[in-house]
Amino acid sequence: MPSAHSTRRQARKAGAVSIIEDGWALRRISGLEILTAEIFDSVPWLVHGFSTRKGGASGLNGVAALNLSFTDWDSREAVTQNRGAFVRAILAQKSASKLAAKIGIEESLITLRQIHSDVVHVCSKAAARAPQGDAALCVKAGLLLGIQTADCIPILLADPRQRVFGAVHAGWRGTLARVVAKALGRMRLEFGSQPVDVIAALGPAIGPCCYEVGPEVAQAFSAQFAQAAEWFEGPFERFATGEDPNPLPWLTMIPPGHEPPRERVWLDLRAANRWQLVDAGVNPRNIAVSALCTGCRTDLFFSYRKEGAGTGRMMSAIGMCANSR
Ligand SMILES: [Zn+2]
Repeated sequence: MPSAHSTRRQARKAGAVSIIEDGWALRRISGLEILTAEIFDSVPWLVHGFSTRKGGASGLNGVAALNLSFTDWDSREAVTQNRGAFVRAILAQKSASKLAAKIGIEESLITLRQIHSDVVHVCSKAAARAPQGDAALCVKAGLLLGIQTADCIPILLADPRQRVFGAVHAGWRGTLARVVAKALGRMRLEFGSQPVDVIAALGPAIGPCCYEVGPEVAQAFSAQFAQAAEWFEGPFERFATGEDPNPLPWLTMIPPGHEPPRERVWLDLRAANRWQLVDAGVNPRNIAVSALCTGCRTDLFFSYRKEGAGTGRMMSAIGMCANSR
């Protein structure tokens, strides 16, 4: 049991901390605000963080922004500087991660060229050219896996027993392709991870409040998952059957301007991915899900849906302290 004094010292070291929602802390570190999941606090070797847009060297509409992806509108220098600041802020939470700081950000941060797939990579070093895929697994100390998002769900995974960590990117296509379940399967295959030992944190993403999808998405989920109806709000069944829920006025003989309100459905990506984890054997108690919506909270996050392609990208990263073995 740490003393109040050492806890205070730890808190000072990690910057000011506020609880933004149950189980999630927002840490102010060197001008950045990083979100962390308390569920990972019990794993001594683990470092992690979900970025927000606060701080950073990028300028977006005249405001400083922590853009962590090499987007068209931003300079390479600004993004590189932002990535360095983000990685240092994550490592600052634990004094144990000295080696990663020493070997440099370029060598310690592994990212992917994300393609909305179910491709899982096992990584042992940062490659000059990031591999294509949407999930990465690692067992090496001193390395960080980073997933970039601006609405899609970032999912961080850790198996404290086999000392494996992973990061997954899941939008609707990746969710449909069961990318998180496949990452778990690969953890089991390569490293002997038992799902019951795995801890998972689903970071800020677009919520069902803001994620309207078309009938083709409802149909695709309906064809893949018996539970799909539970992950949609709105008249899912009508969308899923393939019959057009919003026929054109000239087909229905309703005069233009007198049609009933257009029917819409919204997808809950969190519920779908949480279900996949539980279905694969992860204990529901070991899953933390942020309720923060990127679409509702553009003060804190980038949202592709709300702001368009010209917005920035967040990064969610997880790694192992360098001197923990
Ligand atoms: Zn929302």
